[in-house]
Amino acid sequence: MSDIVVVGGGIVGLSIAWRLVSRGADVTVLDGGDEGAAWPVAAGMLAPGGESEHEDPALIRLMERSADRWPDFAAELGVGVGYDDAGTLSLAMTADDLAGRARVWTRQALPLLRPSELRELEPALSVRVRAGVFSSRERQVDPRKVVSALRERLGARIVPKRVTAVSDVDARTVVVAAGCGTAALTGLPVRPVKGQVLRLRGEPGLVRHVLDAAVDGREVYVVPRADGEVVVGATQEERTDLTVTAGGVHELLRAALDLVPALAECELTETTAGHRPGTPDNAPLLGRLDDRVVVAAGHFRNGILLAPVTADLIAELVLTGEADPMLADFSPGRF
Ligand SMILES: Cc1cc2nc3c(=O)[nH]c(=O)nc-3n(C[C@H](O)[C@H](O)[C@H](O)COP(=O)(O)OP(=O)(O)OC[C@H]3O[C@@H](n4cnc5c(N)ncnc54)[C@H](O)[C@@H]3O)c2cc1C
Repeated sequence: MSDIVVVGGGIVGLSIAWRLVSRGADVTVLDGGDEGAAWPVAAGMLAPGGESEHEDPALIRLMERSADRWPDFAAELGVGVGYDDAGTLSLAMTADDLAGRARVWTRQALPLLRPSELRELEPALSVRVRAGVFSSRERQVDPRKVVSALRERLGARIVPKRVTAVSDVDARTVVVAAGCGTAALTGLPVRPVKGQVLRLRGEPGLVRHVLDAAVDGREVYVVPRADGEVVVGATQEERTDLTVTAGGVHELLRAALDLVPALAECELTETTAGHRPGTPDNAPLLGRLDDRVVVAAGHFRNGILLAPVTADLIAELVLTGEADPMLADFSPGRF
């Protein structure tokens, strides 16, 4: 067995393993498979601005540091992972939608754009869109391409195996990065928060930016990839099943088509559901559980964004025993 075993081969576990290997460590990843994992479903928005005015300042700092790391992280992977810096339009359809978003926009200090300015940036937007802001800092990456690149880098170090107890793992250090599976392995409060997502396919360039909108009281995002794929998400449900429901699909399509009517012509290619690994305070659990076990889990809605900084911080902790001061706010011991 390896010196270090990472339990969980999702985007967080693979990123940590890759960082450890690139620093010369002997690492094995034990992974239970893609069923129920969050990364294959995730849209890949890299949104460090915080999605609500209630976001914790320490979490926003962590997200900003990771957003800054993404260009190098993507470049180091050495293959195209869909890192796209076209930016995000945050949009409001009605006066009530605008009132709901105004505080976040004020905190971000972004200038309010008029409908005509918005449609200049994004010609396919509905004429009903009332206001919005443009954030060049909010970008995107394709999580499926990232995981595929990480798998290629790690090769035979990834072993298919669902671990049932950390005590069964024969290694000097065990890093538990098992997403929602972390609760059963550690007793920490990581719970599944279901999200349904649609994938459409249309003309490349129909939508030019990530769109993150409030549409008649409904939240929806539209994430266009360079090849014409458009990801539409996401429901947020306190449920443990992975059923794609008629109601979920209807809600997402209605909001997306109200926002960009031309999406109606796209092919609906995929409907999926996954579980975000949620925690009681919506912040990840990063740090030492005991002398042998380190945890990196509970990344909730931001695990794609947070993968690079998580990998850096956990690799440093495992290899040197030194905890970056940034980890203090995310200690698993806070619960
Ligand atoms: C609908 C939806 C949309 C999202 N959109 C975004 C977004 O736009 N931007 C963003 O930053 N984040 C987004 N996320 C969140 C992001 O996907 C997660 O935070 C991230 O995937 C967490 O990574 P992870 O590796 O910890 O967990 P996962 O991706 O869930 O992977 C966990 C892995 O651990 C393995 N595992 C579990 N238990 C065991 C065990 N006992 N033994 C061995 N292996 C085990 C599983 O097989 C799996 O491979 C979204 C999530 C969802 C569901």
